[in-house]
Amino acid sequence: MQPFDTHEVRNTVAPFENINLYTADPALQEALLREGGGEAAASLESLGAELGKAETLDLARLANLYSPTLHNYDREGHRIDEVEFHPAWHRLMALLIGHGTHASPWQGGAGAQVARAARYLLFGQVENGSQCPVTMTYASVPALKQAPRIALKWLPKILSNQYDPRSLPVEQKHGAIIGMGMTEKQGGSDVRANTTRAEPLLSAEGRALFGDEGEEVFRIVGHKWFFSAPQSDAHLILAQTDGEGSAGLSCFFLPRYLPNGERNAIRVQRLKDKLGNRSNASSEVEFTGAYGWLIGKQGRGIPTILEMGSHTRLDCVLGSAGTMRAALTHALHHARRRVAFGRPLVEQPLMQNVLADLALESEAATAFAMRLARCFDQSSDPAQAMLARLLTPAGKYWICKRGPGFGAEAMEVIGGSGYVEDSPLARLYRELPVNSIWEGSGNVMCLDLLRALSKSPEAREALAAELAEAGNSDTFFVAYRSTLLADLAQQQTPDEFGARVRAERVVLAVQAALLLRHAPEYVSSAFVASRLKREPGGAYGRLPSGVDCEAILARALVE
Ligand SMILES: Cc1cc2nc3c(=O)[nH]c(=O)nc-3n(C[C@H](O)[C@H](O)[C@H](O)COP(=O)(O)OP(=O)(O)OC[C@H]3O[C@@H](n4cnc5c(N)ncnc54)[C@H](O)[C@@H]3O)c2cc1C
Repeated sequence: MQPFDTHEVRNTVAPFENINLYTADPALQEALLREGGGEAAASLESLGAELGKAETLDLARLANLYSPTLHNYDREGHRIDEVEFHPAWHRLMALLIGHGTHASPWQGGAGAQVARAARYLLFGQVENGSQCPVTMTYASVPALKQAPRIALKWLPKILSNQYDPRSLPVEQKHGAIIGMGMTEKQGGSDVRANTTRAEPLLSAEGRALFGDEGEEVFRIVGHKWFFSAPQSDAHLILAQTDGEGSAGLSCFFLPRYLPNGERNAIRVQRLKDKLGNRSNASSEVEFTGAYGWLIGKQGRGIPTILEMGSHTRLDCVLGSAGTMRAALTHALHHARRRVAFGRPLVEQPLMQNVLADLALESEAATAFAMRLARCFDQSSDPAQAMLARLLTPAGKYWICKRGPGFGAEAMEVIGGSGYVEDSPLARLYRELPVNSIWEGSGNVMCLDLLRALSKSPEAREALAAELAEAGNSDTFFVAYRSTLLADLAQQQTPDEFGARVRAERVVLAVQAALLLRHAPEYVSSAFVASRLKREPGGAYGRLPSGVDCEAILARALVE
């Protein structure tokens, strides 16, 4: 040291970067193979290396630091409603779309949903805002297939792996992305409260006109209070129609550009100033006579758009599992290197308890999310479809609900440096609540679970069959399983008041069953001891004594 140097910088930890995010995660690799996505293993390995590069991880920082800007008018005063993004956003989008995360399952192949789920989970460890438009595009495909002529024209662009951010009519583009708009000021969860109206465009003789997109065309007047990715090439929205015998909400396809090349009348009022997800543009819009093409039947808008909802909810589960995994890896990387009171943090018993508890939560979330993705791969099997019907809302509730507390705890592992913007933990923490809010908030998901249980006894049978796979060797699990199934059988008369506890227990039972079947014994026994024998508490670090924390932590992150 020189005489006036104030101090030596030491005992600090270099960032967690330049690591293969896939090979660092044995639980994900195992889940990919057992759930049927093994063909993608090699491509995931190279994706894991690409995503873990310092340069890629820095794109996330830049895209969130320089959040999007809305330009309503061009320099001559024409209304344009264009959103400008930092180049880092476009690079992230190109990566996501280039790897098929927006559409690969619709191109076929065994285990395609599972392979995509693993990719999405890896991207969730890098940047979350760009996952929003990618999810909506992925989820739009089943709904769009209900409008064959629109599908014919648009699917080749949607399925393309070329990211094309240019603001042009779709005919001139190499790829397209799709958004969705349901939420209005007066009601989001209860979409029946929507006031946006759609009037059929009739010929002089009073017959419905068919526009260039091929389906029945309507004019739309109204608004949406949340309308993410307004730069999308088209949106699916809900609006009220008065059709004879089919009044109610209908689903419409609103392209950004009309077949004549003019901009559709979708006015972007402003961009939301959000807690997190700042790289992603979420807007408020008004439809001032926008043209929309009917998707599905008039008055059947909710079931039509719900085709989308089940897939977006799968992504909320995957997104939260990925973000929690990111928080865990940063925390564990730090704790292995930071010394306090003479020893690395990771060697201190109480810190081991916290970190191992986080690692169990992360592995269980990954196992659950990947199992759920297999239900989507096998949805032609009624039992798998029923299981997805149950596990999608339950998982969307519980796994997304675990996120914010998880993020806070991981941040605390890093201490004060975790709380500042130099650390990715601050951004990851801000991301975690949103998966619980959008696409059906927590309570709405729990009520949906009850609806599935009361309407479809087969759903409970599918759950029973899934849990039976774990056998009878763990007596505590066996008792938990039978109490749960007996309780769910009584939900023909739904108990709304207790719905959260039921959703939580459904997920915990499935997670325990998966870990008992597939994870090392030190993982499954610790999970059962900490989540079934005692109810999960508000804080992490409550593992009972006897848990093999060192083994759990060695498995959690292979550096
Ligand atoms: C960043 C971001 C982006 C978004 N992007 C989009 C988008 O692109 N398109 C879009 O359509 N929407 C979007 N949303 C909106 C989001 O989907 C809604 O905010 C969400 O569905 C909740 O609706 P709401 O805000 O109207 O709340 P409300 O419906 O008023 O609900 C408020 C609370 O009440 C609870 N609740 C509702 N009903 C019941 C009940 N019966 N019993 C008990 N509790 C109940 C809910 O769970 C929630 O916690 C976005 C939201 C965010 C934060």
